Amino acid sequence: MALEKSLILLKPDAVQRRLCGEIISRLEKKGLKLVGMKMLVVTKELAAKHYEEHVEKPFYPLLEEFITSGPVVAIVVQGPEAVSVVRGMMGKTNGRESAPGTIRGDFGLSRQVNLIHGSDSPEAAARETAIYFQPEELVEYSSSLDSWVCASD
Ligand code: UDP
Repeated sequence: MALEKSLILLKPDAVQRRLCGEIISRLEKKGLKLVGMKMLVVTKELAAKHYEEHVEKPFYPLLEEFITSGPVVAIVVQGPEAVSVVRGMMGKTNGRESAPGTIRGDFGLSRQVNLIHGSDSPEAAARETAIYFQPEELVEYSSSLDSWVCASD
């Protein structure tokens, strides 16, 4: 079972709607460990780096406007298979189609304004983490809960 890191953004709507605590609480209760966290405003340059695969798509101008519209919270979590675990907790891109119990399914109705970004592969997680964090901004620490929430199977 691979211990992975995933890069999460709590998007401007999560900050504006005061849902950051709720979402971080879900990640923590699941057992994921916070190893990096900061608040920032995404610039157009940062947005284009982050969403490089979407820059040429028709929806990109509106996505750029949204993601740069206010502060976000960037988080790195660590845990067993953290990438797919976070993706499952997020739900589908479109909040209207996302299952109840997921973050987007419980709190969102939009395909664009959808609260949270989570890396879609370990490779993307490494690339995206390097966009938002310097290596020294990530912390390594052990926790007495590790053996309870990260058992070997
Ligand atoms: N997005 C959008 N319109 C679309 C598809 C995506 O505005 O038709 C936005 C939405 O905010 C989404 C982000 O672009 O979260 C990245 O799209 P992706 O397909 O990677 O979705 P995700 O991995 O975030 O579910």
